Amino acid sequence: MNLNASTVFAQGRFMTYDDARVGLLTHGLNYGTGCFEGIRGYWNQDERELNLLLLREHFERLHTSAKILLMKIPHTVDELVELTLELCARNRFEQDVYIRPLCYKSAEDVGVRLMGVPDAFTITALPYTPYYDASAGLKTCVSSWRRVDDTMAPARAKITGAYVNSALAKSEAQMNGFDEAIMLSNDGHVAEGSAANMFIVRNGTLFTPDPTQNVLEGITRRAVLTLAENELRIPVVERMIDRSELYAADEIFFTGTAAGITFVTAVDHRQVGDGRMGPVARRLRELYESAVNGRAPKYRGWLTPVYANRRVPA
Ligand code: PMP
Repeated sequence: MNLNASTVFAQGRFMTYDDARVGLLTHGLNYGTGCFEGIRGYWNQDERELNLLLLREHFERLHTSAKILLMKIPHTVDELVELTLELCARNRFEQDVYIRPLCYKSAEDVGVRLMGVPDAFTITALPYTPYYDASAGLKTCVSSWRRVDDTMAPARAKITGAYVNSALAKSEAQMNGFDEAIMLSNDGHVAEGSAANMFIVRNGTLFTPDPTQNVLEGITRRAVLTLAENELRIPVVERMIDRSELYAADEIFFTGTAAGITFVTAVDHRQVGDGRMGPVARRLRELYESAVNGRAPKYRGWLTPVYANRRVPA
């Protein structure tokens, strides 16, 4: 796909990506004062339909992120859903897609602050390319970079500038020969990966850090908790996790919109289980894959179809 010619939503209307430009002094670019979402759409070839996953949940989180940053998204959740469906239809996607709504401080002036700075809102959509090779699992390390604390830059909001934290951790991990970083919170408990939440399984119980542990309130995390509670009937506990519990775990996996459910083979040179995908991760992956691909009637409500009842503009 030619990104420059693709249709985006910016300045309150649809235009080409090439026409939507930002100036050098843009506040959000200089100070990281913005918030965003990452949403996935799954192409269903049999139904010739593009299904967007948990769309409302993403826009509700965007509204929360914006509120934390003293920003106002100029559209309700319902309007955002409609705009996104229209954007996908205008791009005539017939493949998996990744959608990136972004709200940023748009003033072109100098001075760090949040109040009284105008905002801009955009949505870009592009074909999805896989984030990890999920089949092989990931070799991880505990990062020397700690996760940003709620008292510094709230991790529960998806704040553009805070991704420097993720980028430092991920780069260090990869430059040291690992696939992914696990960040601890400032007080030394397990937080999350660079762009994914974490789960461990130990003695038949599923654990994940609770949302006060400086983690993004992940939408895939919530979906996986729902699947585990409804379908697996194993104990699910949200609580602080120690670093050494990573070494003792039977299974570890990441969850995220881009990451899906991706298992971890090792942490800090300690193999997790037998180094292969464990039974809980495997079962959750199967359930998640059938839900996102529209094969699970019970979870069909997670999907919003683009083309049903929508005429593609000529
Ligand atoms: N944590 C961070 C830091 C992330 O960037 C992401 C990706 N959005 C996640 C967790 C996973 O969140 P979600 O399931 O909502 O994509």
